[in-house]
Amino acid sequence: MNNNKQSTIKGQTLLRQRNVLLVLNTINSSGPISKREIVYLTGLSFAKVNSIIIFLNNLNLILEVGKEKSSGGRPSSIFEFNSNFRYTIGCQLSHTQIHTIVSNLKGEILFNDIKPFDKSTGKEFVIDLMIDSIDNLINLSGIPHDKFIGIGVAIAGLFNPKDETTLPFPHLVSWGNVSFKSILYNKFKLPCYVNNIANAAALAERNYGLGKGIENVLYLNIGSGLGMGIIFNGKLYEGVSGTAGEFGHITVDENGPICACGNVGCLEAIASTKAVINDAKDRLKQGVLSVLSNMVKDNINDLDFKMICAAAIQSDKLAFSVIDKMGQNLGEGIVTLINLLNPERIILGGKIVDAKNLIIIPIMNIVQKRALEIPRRNTEIVFSNMGSNAGTVGSTIPIIERFFENEVNKLIE
Ligand SMILES: [Zn+2]
Repeated sequence: MNNNKQSTIKGQTLLRQRNVLLVLNTINSSGPISKREIVYLTGLSFAKVNSIIIFLNNLNLILEVGKEKSSGGRPSSIFEFNSNFRYTIGCQLSHTQIHTIVSNLKGEILFNDIKPFDKSTGKEFVIDLMIDSIDNLINLSGIPHDKFIGIGVAIAGLFNPKDETTLPFPHLVSWGNVSFKSILYNKFKLPCYVNNIANAAALAERNYGLGKGIENVLYLNIGSGLGMGIIFNGKLYEGVSGTAGEFGHITVDENGPICACGNVGCLEAIASTKAVINDAKDRLKQGVLSVLSNMVKDNINDLDFKMICAAAIQSDKLAFSVIDKMGQNLGEGIVTLINLLNPERIILGGKIVDAKNLIIIPIMNIVQKRALEIPRRNTEIVFSNMGSNAGTVGSTIPIIERFFENEVNKLIE
């Protein structure tokens, strides 16, 4: 075969792959959808769409789920993406627990497991716990091994994007240089992809949550740390070394407390839930009266963010005041993000959601007062409704994306 002929065939295959992926992605994002609507949305001819649909249906990648109501003529069939074509495993490793899921290609959680651990526990124990949790869920699901396409891990820290080994976490310093990729591959013979929790959660919001259909979104993960995932032109922006979005470590008070990163006066050191709990504890120790004293009884170390939110809702002055201060500080940080990045939507997720009705008031007061008018008017601030699942579900998205890019193309060839 001469070179011209070969390159023509290659070009035709690429075009076919592109068209097949276009139809598949359209069915995935807009289904259940009729053939007629697919033609309209893709701009492909009816004959092309028809042949691609027969192909995808034969592969079992899509399912015929009904017929369109017709006012005359032959009714058009309606198709849906077969979200149970393959399955993924997602793991979220936070400071105190491992959350593991088995989910399908639409990010729907089918099986779920939470394993708490003590912060002082060594990493070997926690890694074994993660392996156990994955093993148990695979067995419990009864799904054959060859139907799994990979394991996603979202971690509460940074990693080296070149080899996906962890860098020492600010909160779990001894966790540096762990390769989940090789540990999990050796055990389960499945590809593994590492992300940080805020980035994974931002992907989950973009695909399934409040970021769907929006090109420029910021997801703020506000809990004992402050992280951010940036969706820029529909794609995750990670920066040159994968550490973009460390919004918690911008200095806001040079006389402020020391941060877990070693710097002084970072936003995280004054506006995280951990900072708020410490603030409330200090005030209780100083003898400030509050219902929190009754809630924790004898052990002030039991004080958590949920208790502070519950007390603030009961108009407890101390609780209300620390939440108000957290909101003002976060508001200052959010003003910087609005002015700097001009996002369309900012999604607030993580433990902060427990305080949403209270904390939105000081946040919005500061934003109204300080952000530049034009970007402010175009930014919507909302609270995530994915709960603590966002990072775990999002950890599987890179696996699904790679599956479509590589495996589906192989099926088409
Ligand atoms: Zn810091």
